[in-house]
Amino acid sequence: MKIAILGSGVIGVTSAWYLAQAGHEVVVVDRQSGPALETSFANAGEISPGYASPWAAPGIPMKAVRWLMMRHAPLILRPHADMAMMRWLAAMLGNCNARDYAINKSRMVRLAEFSRDRLIELRGATGIRYDERSQGTLQLFREQKQLDGVGKDIAVLKADGVPFEVLDPTGCVAAEPGLANSEVPLAGGLRLPHDETGDCFKFTNALAQMAATQGVRFLNDTAITRLAAEGGRITHVETDAGNLVADAYLVAMGSYSPQLVAPLGIRLPVYPVKGYSITVPIVDEARAPVSTLLDESYKVAITRLGDRIRVGGMAEISGFTKDLPPARRATLEHSAGSLFPGAGDMAAASFWCGLRPMTPDSTPVIGATKVPNLFLNTGHGTLGWTMACGSAHVIADIIAGRPPAIETADLAISRYRNAA
Ligand SMILES: Cc1cc2nc3c(=O)[nH]c(=O)nc-3n(C[C@H](O)[C@H](O)[C@H](O)COP(=O)(O)OP(=O)(O)OC[C@H]3O[C@@H](n4cnc5c(N)ncnc54)[C@H](O)[C@@H]3O)c2cc1C
Repeated sequence: MKIAILGSGVIGVTSAWYLAQAGHEVVVVDRQSGPALETSFANAGEISPGYASPWAAPGIPMKAVRWLMMRHAPLILRPHADMAMMRWLAAMLGNCNARDYAINKSRMVRLAEFSRDRLIELRGATGIRYDERSQGTLQLFREQKQLDGVGKDIAVLKADGVPFEVLDPTGCVAAEPGLANSEVPLAGGLRLPHDETGDCFKFTNALAQMAATQGVRFLNDTAITRLAAEGGRITHVETDAGNLVADAYLVAMGSYSPQLVAPLGIRLPVYPVKGYSITVPIVDEARAPVSTLLDESYKVAITRLGDRIRVGGMAEISGFTKDLPPARRATLEHSAGSLFPGAGDMAAASFWCGLRPMTPDSTPVIGATKVPNLFLNTGHGTLGWTMACGSAHVIADIIAGRPPAIETADLAISRYRNAA
């Protein structure tokens, strides 16, 4: 079967890999000059099934009000007249209850764990390198009350069978020796030893190269403008470089996926939630993090990637804007600079933003649509890097008509009442 994959972020490229492995003829189309140049470019680098949790949780609306007023705020809302934003926010708030949280979390954990295992398998089979480390994630609490409140998270980890360690300040320093130089007191931490880290851009590009050697074609610098349909099926995809015909079409265009499928009467509730990162060259190895640390106070992730530190976070709801306000950079520098002072050269850091393709229930949309030869693999929000290999593995099975290795019916767009 000839399959056209629309988008060459981490989701499109991993999909191309598994579809090519299954023997299909695959072509990947993207407007950028190479893979992973949009949201998959400089994310926080965590492969974190242990922390796979929906943003929409009980108590979030109250917390959000507090966050919006903080100086180094983890959440920024820049409302404007945008029906898609209003609809998405309303649906997200509708998920902030115990029942939906439990359903959404179980879907996310199932996919994220499956995905981490597929990544380990892929690494073993191909030897792919991407500044990877398998040294866990440390959620760091600066305040005692954060540590005192950890019981709820522990109950969930226990229920999901995720191994964990609760650490005192000495234990935190043992896990992350650079914290010995922290300028702020530490209350303790929660460590998930099975989480991993790695550079999503390097991974995606290395995998794309391996896929290309297996015959996958990459059409770069090619903007997709429309899906043409006739007789209830997609006949071709229109691009600024001409039409492309395939047997099946997989949409993996991140935050830009809804606009492509809307003319077909498919309402995909994916909205861009902007995040920021800085990438800091390491100047003092002994002061730098060894793995990923989550600074709970600012919801910022600080990750070691080779000779660099990636600091990423914040959720800004402001449409498709890609501006880089200095205040956001200051928040990232404040978090990493106070915990790992002198580790990196902040002045030499590069500053970046990306648009997370978020669904209101935080779970990606993977599977078939009402159009028989059109499939979706998008909406991975905060955890697209974590979930990429698993999502790609299951969509390859779904397209081939094989039963996927995990339950996927509840990941499809049909879970939304108003989707079609
Ligand atoms: C600050 C930040 C930190 C993050 N940290 C983590 C983390 O630590 N761990 C984790 O698991 N996840 C993290 N994420 C989330 C993760 O990066 C995303 O979920 C993931 O990159 C989404 O991948 P994607 O392939 O769906 O989208 P993208 O990477 O955006 O790929 C979509 C592709 O579609 C192409 N495209 C779009 N429209 C068109 C068009 N009209 N024509 C042609 N091509 C088009 C784009 O050029 C792009 O290449 C983070 C995100 C951010 C912003």
